[in-house]
Amino acid sequence: MSLEQNQDKVETSQRSGNLFVVSAPSGAGKSSLIKALLAEHSSAEAPLQVAVSHTTRNPRPGEENGQHYHFVSHETFVDMIAANGFYEHAKVFDNYYGTSRQAIENTLEQGIDVFLDIDWQGARQVKEQYPAAHTVFILPPSIAELERRLQGRGQDSAEVIAKRMSEAKSEMSHVHEFDYVLINDDFSRTLTDFYSIVLDKRLTQTAQSTTYANLIAELLV
Ligand code: 5GP
Repeated sequence: MSLEQNQDKVETSQRSGNLFVVSAPSGAGKSSLIKALLAEHSSAEAPLQVAVSHTTRNPRPGEENGQHYHFVSHETFVDMIAANGFYEHAKVFDNYYGTSRQAIENTLEQGIDVFLDIDWQGARQVKEQYPAAHTVFILPPSIAELERRLQGRGQDSAEVIAKRMSEAKSEMSHVHEFDYVLINDDFSRTLTDFYSIVLDKRLTQTAQSTTYANLIAELLV
């Protein structure tokens, strides 16, 4: 029997998924990297999912409940805060946004790796509530490149661009709080680096001892 055929017969057990918290200044390419990671690497054996936040704001045209956000009433949101239902939550302009504890835990229990796309403040709160979370920060390759990316379509005033730069610098000042740092210079290389973090967490002794519990038990008889 070839090694390949033999490997097909290895029985696996359900491990818990890993939680990844991803932050970056706007213009670093975070959303595109998360999107590409899921498109290229999520599979039936090793599913990846982006967490869906709760919000009190109204859906915009084309947005679907449960897909873009869980749209809930102000009352429901406040009840959830009181019941300690969020890993983190924030008020942005007039609306609340939050990461539901229950939704994430249910997903992780199914063996799905979950990605949270939030800012450094949210990342810090999630890590406090769920210390096993792995935090990843994405940086642009240079200030000049960041500025170029934040200039958008060239229709914004120098003032608006300066404000975006200052917000980006403020977000980047928290890079040292994160477990992993990706420099997004070359998209496809950065994506490979990102996926290697995900793989690394699946290959720890603890994770493998669950996934291959039967094999390891057999080998150790
Ligand atoms: P929007 O209403 O445009 O979808 O999002 C407004 C802001 O809320 C964005 O800056 C977005 O990053 C933030 N946001 C979305 N979901 C969450 C969440 O679960 N927690 C926190 N802290 N902010 C969120």
